[in-house]
Amino acid sequence: MTDFAALRNEMVDRQIAARGVRSLAVLDAMRSVPREEFVPAGVREFAYDDSPLPIAADQTISQPYIVAFMVEALALQGGEKVLEIGAGSGYAAAILSVIASRVYTIERIHELAEYARDALARAGCANVEVIEGDGTRGFPEQAPFDAIVVAAGGPEVPESLKQQLKIGGRLVIPIGASRSVQELVRVTRVAESEFEVEDLADVRFVPLIGAEGWGGRDDKAPARPAKRESREERLQRRVDDACDPFLDIENANIDPLIDRVGDARIVLIGEASHGTSEFYRFRTRVSARLIEEKGFRLVGIEGDWPDAARIDHYVRHLRYPPSEWTAFARFPTWMWRNSEMREFVDWLRIHNSNIAEDERIAFHGLDLYSMYSSIREILRYLDEIDPETAAIARQRYGCLTPWQSDPATYGRAALTGTYRSCEKDVVGMLKELANKHWQYASHDGERFLDAVQNARLIANAERYYRTMYYGSRSSWNLRDNYMFETLQTLIEHYAPHGKAIVWAHNSHVGDASATEMSSRGELNIGHLCRRAYGDGVHIIGFGTDSGTVAAASEWDGPMQVMNVRPAIAGSYERLFHETGQPGFTLALRGADRELRLDLSRPMLQRAIGVIYRPETELASHYFQAVLPQQFDEYVWIDRTSAVDPIKTHELAGMPDTYPFGL
Ligand code: SAM
Repeated sequence: MTDFAALRNEMVDRQIAARGVRSLAVLDAMRSVPREEFVPAGVREFAYDDSPLPIAADQTISQPYIVAFMVEALALQGGEKVLEIGAGSGYAAAILSVIASRVYTIERIHELAEYARDALARAGCANVEVIEGDGTRGFPEQAPFDAIVVAAGGPEVPESLKQQLKIGGRLVIPIGASRSVQELVRVTRVAESEFEVEDLADVRFVPLIGAEGWGGRDDKAPARPAKRESREERLQRRVDDACDPFLDIENANIDPLIDRVGDARIVLIGEASHGTSEFYRFRTRVSARLIEEKGFRLVGIEGDWPDAARIDHYVRHLRYPPSEWTAFARFPTWMWRNSEMREFVDWLRIHNSNIAEDERIAFHGLDLYSMYSSIREILRYLDEIDPETAAIARQRYGCLTPWQSDPATYGRAALTGTYRSCEKDVVGMLKELANKHWQYASHDGERFLDAVQNARLIANAERYYRTMYYGSRSSWNLRDNYMFETLQTLIEHYAPHGKAIVWAHNSHVGDASATEMSSRGELNIGHLCRRAYGDGVHIIGFGTDSGTVAAASEWDGPMQVMNVRPAIAGSYERLFHETGQPGFTLALRGADRELRLDLSRPMLQRAIGVIYRPETELASHYFQAVLPQQFDEYVWIDRTSAVDPIKTHELAGMPDTYPFGL
């Protein structure tokens, strides 16, 4: 016997969720309605196929995905009164009935109206009424409606349906000059006589036949003069008009972008992967200009404090001895240990050699994955300036020593009570150091900052590893809060000149409230910065279509150069790829209203981290976002290539102070 429930779940996962339908209400409804009850007996076994199926009278039951997509477009919250035109099998009405409180569905063909009634009764949908007649006139007896959906394609939006919408109500309908190919649009009644129209997708539906639709079978007209420009075409044209195109990074004209940064005190520069050469090179160009022309004083990266401290030591020509170990030697090494990064670091060093010591550009790490190197650094510092406190620190941090090879297991052990929590020790140590401010800072302010920051990192990392077991949201938020606080500490430390540039992934810098992250309760540096600094922060996002990327297949796995798949349909990346431009910068904050509105319909966006899984790309790497709210500026580079990791032999003979070490 066919296991329809299993097929149904598989259909929802593979055909619907994987294609970007996100509404939980819609996904749940699709999981609960037995589609096999709505298809003719002879095709039951195909009930969960990814296609429309024939029903009686030459009509069709729509493809499951399109039903889900249309119902999601109605933006139902639950409890509404909904009208459907074109009951057909009754399946879409059944889905609607799970979410809405009352559904009316009109069908013009008697045989189908009866069919739909039977199927709905079998499926137990008691809140649906099937009406026989011409639905293009709507159903004035029950108007107004919160939402209306039309499952057949008309030449234009029937006026009667628009008039039967509540203010704020949504009407989703396929329309177009052809009887078989249409564009799906959503009409929202924003005021008594004001309607907003959005194009949603290209679709194929059977014709809507009736007084405000097409005439009967022989009707060839009505002729609509010219083909409407599709949403994608219009968007591409608008992006094309608004962007500043470039052929290659080195020659790109970034003057307009630098102008747009204006008086911002913080510039967050993203990346769409952790292993793409072009993103680093573009960041280098932008950062150099910001430093030279706009007085930016520090660079903070999504890397660990003690590792970045070695780079800082090198670029600022600091006098005290640097730590002896290799920087960025842990997975994912290529993320910062790459030739592109070395170019920037060398540029910083040269730039700094020409300016006064106390004005030199600093380089710091905002991340918290270096609990043990941070412990080593604090001990090294205290051994030198306060051996007594060093002994106390050794004892307190000793609590964490057994977990050095795998700090994540410490979290579980502490939570389950099989090992004591080290929280008191690490927080105590942080307080102890902070209290010695006057005593230590007079010795050397920079080194004191370094020590306190390491102590802060350890305290946060200790909490991070414990929080990890409560789920990814709390640990993600803890980490981004920590990175944001570190940034604030730095801005204050370098005040009044603390203008900061941050290099981190799009997922950290792009405002989380504009992406799917917010529905999971996640926040990030971009969001926290906007909340704290408003227009004083400028966020730059990046994107690419295809090429290669440096990434691993799994955590701690070796770096590979992988092919990046061309962007999928329905993504921002595909849209930008289809402009045909090899690269451009695009102002989003200052963009004209039309472009912003057009770009504001949520679309998919790709994020590649240190892991890339092309085989499950859609599920693993795409998420929904609203680009103009996420970033102030967007940089598009159509084809990109993997970063060039620094090979050990290239460093042979470099001085001890060389930041990437051996
Ligand atoms: N929602 C249906 C389902 O879930 O099976 C699929 C509907 S089918 C694609 C379109 C239906 O619209 C056909 O059954 C057709 O007879 C009906 N239809 C076309 N014009 C109509 C009109 N003016 N009023 C009511 N129904 C109409």
